[in-house]
Amino acid sequence: MMVVESEAVVLCAQDYGESDRIVTFFSVEWGLVRAMAKGARRSRKRFVHAFEPNSVVQVGLRQRRALSWVESCRLVEGHLALRSDPLRWAYAGLLVETTLRLNPENLPNPTYYVLLRSGLARLGTDRDPANVAALFLVRAMRILGALPSLEGCCQCGPTMAEASLWRLSLATGRFSCGAHSAADKEGIDLDKGAVALLQAMLQAPLEKIWRFRLRKRAVHGLIKAVCAWVEDHTGQSLKSRRLLHRMETGPEIPAPSPTSAALVVSP
Ligand SMILES: [Zn+2]
Repeated sequence: MMVVESEAVVLCAQDYGESDRIVTFFSVEWGLVRAMAKGARRSRKRFVHAFEPNSVVQVGLRQRRALSWVESCRLVEGHLALRSDPLRWAYAGLLVETTLRLNPENLPNPTYYVLLRSGLARLGTDRDPANVAALFLVRAMRILGALPSLEGCCQCGPTMAEASLWRLSLATGRFSCGAHSAADKEGIDLDKGAVALLQAMLQAPLEKIWRFRLRKRAVHGLIKAVCAWVEDHTGQSLKSRRLLHRMETGPEIPAPSPTSAALVVSP
């Protein structure tokens, strides 16, 4: 069988037997894919720093029987800025873990790949990693078809100008104006400004969504809502979510600054 190459993000790697590793990638070519890296633990020379989580690599896979085998793996981008900051690293873990949970194996999704790659890159540089994570999760839900339309109330139609408060419920798949939101108790409340910003973000090209800035309350509400939906949907809790919660409530991370007064879209 011939070797096929693809760019990919390393999601995780686990030891297998005495000398091998099983590596999970999200790739352009195959989407989520697991592959055996023969001898990866014994010979460091063959795959130099290639299986670190969150790294972008150029990987060559050979299909043999039911398994994929890593024939080559070359580091393209190691995201050093992420590795030196525990909070950014934890948010990167959230991007990676939701990607693992939500994508079926061997189903290519190049749009999702672009989102993941640019989201990880932005996490290393943006002044607000939580905002990056919230934008990523909302856009990922849209790409995967799990986000209801935000164009208007699911009951009274497109009356965006008339209502100032809206509720988004991922569990029921409903987006409603304040008058029709009573049924969606677990939903997240969004004001008109946040809804307008999300609408614009969902229309923007993937590489350009990171300039949108949500208010702190919306950021944390959206992250919480998407994480709860992922946990419900898959029946598995998100380790990265628990880690982030500990980091943000623990003594080592300073309390977040007061909510900024305005929504900002920087040029
Ligand atoms: Zn309504």
